[in-house]
Amino acid sequence: MSFTRREVLVGGVGLALAGAGLVGMSGCGDADPCVDADALTTGQASLRASFHYEARSPHGDEKACSGCQFFAARTEDALGCGSCQILQGPVNGRGHCDSWSART
Ligand code: SF4
Repeated sequence: MSFTRREVLVGGVGLALAGAGLVGMSGCGDADPCVDADALTTGQASLRASFHYEARSPHGDEKACSGCQFFAARTEDALGCGSCQILQGPVNGRGHCDSWSART
């Protein structure tokens, strides 16, 4: 079996990315800067899965965590991070889950 120079270069980049843990992410911009997934308890992770939490609202900013009654913003947080009463932990202000409810 032989490889072209291009196949070797592309394969090398792929291996490097896999080694860095970057392959399998849906995109570098999709990482949630507000949530350290490794720091979540099993219960917190389970709640996120059950309520289909996403770091970016698929419904736009109109139905994002920052406009939800269960969101509490972190003071002076330039990233727009906060915490959620339902998910019992940190969330992204631009995120969303099934329990979104307009702030009144
Ligand atoms: S309930 Fe859902 S939409 Fe509302 S703040 Fe929590 S995670 Fe965001």
